[in-house]
Amino acid sequence: MKYISTRGGDTPQSFSDILLGGLAPDGGLYLPEQYPQVSAAELAEWRELPYHALALRILQKYIDDIPACDLKTLSDRTYTEHTYRWCRPGCDAADITPLTTLSPGFHLLELSNGPTLAFKDMAMQLLGNLFEYVLAKREETINILGATSGDTGSAAEYAMRGKKGVRVFMLSPHGKMSAFQRAQMYSLQDENIVNIAIEGMFDDCQDIVKAVSNDAEFKARYKIGAVNSINWARVLAQIVYYFKGYFAATRSNNERVAFSVPSGNFGNICAGHIARMMGLPIARLVMATNENDVLDEFFRTGVYRPRGTADTYVTSSPSMDISKASNFERFVFDLVGRDPAVVRDLWKKVDAGGSFDLRDTPYIAKLASFGFVSGKSTHADRLVTIRDVWQKQQVMIDTHTADAVKVAREHLMAGVPMIVLETAQPVKFAETIQEALGCEPGRPKELEGIESLPQRVEVMPAEAGRVKALIAARC
Ligand SMILES: *Cc1c(COP(=O)(O)O)cnc(C)c1O
Repeated sequence: MKYISTRGGDTPQSFSDILLGGLAPDGGLYLPEQYPQVSAAELAEWRELPYHALALRILQKYIDDIPACDLKTLSDRTYTEHTYRWCRPGCDAADITPLTTLSPGFHLLELSNGPTLAFKDMAMQLLGNLFEYVLAKREETINILGATSGDTGSAAEYAMRGKKGVRVFMLSPHGKMSAFQRAQMYSLQDENIVNIAIEGMFDDCQDIVKAVSNDAEFKARYKIGAVNSINWARVLAQIVYYFKGYFAATRSNNERVAFSVPSGNFGNICAGHIARMMGLPIARLVMATNENDVLDEFFRTGVYRPRGTADTYVTSSPSMDISKASNFERFVFDLVGRDPAVVRDLWKKVDAGGSFDLRDTPYIAKLASFGFVSGKSTHADRLVTIRDVWQKQQVMIDTHTADAVKVAREHLMAGVPMIVLETAQPVKFAETIQEALGCEPGRPKELEGIESLPQRVEVMPAEAGRVKALIAARC
């Protein structure tokens, strides 16, 4: 299996070659040359498999430059009951992504039982093991530089801690994260994890990452890499739980299901789109946004109108606060019949700060055939939904999951089970839970008191030069 860029300008690459990089050199995103198909016989066999074995089957369809036995070791090591142990009482952690039924035909698929209590662990944990494996094979090292406002940074650190050949430099805005988030990241004592609190906002952190990455000489010398959401292996790992959720919510492979996904950078739901392209019987993909409704607008109208960072709302489902959806280009590539010239043309406008409009093109008619519908949820909706699910089912959901539940209810189909992807645990967004329910969400026992553990963090002004000096000193 080779990988091509959505903008067409590269010779096809192997999986291991694109694993450590981000964007393709032509500015596009990597996708497989074609989507491998799943036969009826395979689907029947897969229904019975535990998560790690199902993951291996799917990974093998996409990765042909890592021997199968090594891939098996990596998958077995990643998807363990121990790593994904923070499941809801009554659920079985061995399921890795347990299904909770809220009402007949309406389910939650728990993706947030990993070390940082958000769904990004599902993919990032695999990435950590893949990085370590490929770097060792190639006798290389990498220094991952990232910026975070919360979820991504902690998921990356917990995935990369202790990994040979990998060092993480993670910038976060000083004093802007919750005490719980700070404790999660800064209490890590691993030598290869370096937390840097920047005296500024999240945007300042991101600007520093860009400035450092734009210094080609520095970047090459210190082998600077990234683990952002456009990384293909992250999307790949996310395909697995669509299959797992399908098997958990149905009895036979003649049934169809719908998924509802709280979306930000379009990474999670892009994996659902790919699962559907592989032949998984998905009737509907429900794309839920919060107040930042760039994608909802596109699926309703055919107009993609990214906002500036200044026009991005700060909401109570903060991991969906995006101005442009970095993985969206992957879906549009398929929508326009995989014609890189069309994608180049559309993104020429986007990259120049503009928008594009597919209303008068043949593509708008094709949109429906991909199964997408969409909707939006606001802070008020979130509170109502959290309260409603708590009162009716005694299940506490987080703010992002609430957005997906709200929009899922607007798109139910008779006889088709709805599976809502649960992307975080309520404790991460305690303030809004308090507002909705008047009580504090519980947390796993082992995480009680993490706020008082010793913390390791370097505080510095928002200057790229200072960050570079620190990287140079540590390497
Ligand atoms: C990252 C994140 C999302 C958004 O996922 P995308 O892949 O960016 O669409 C939703 N919910 C939570 C809790 C997240 O951390």
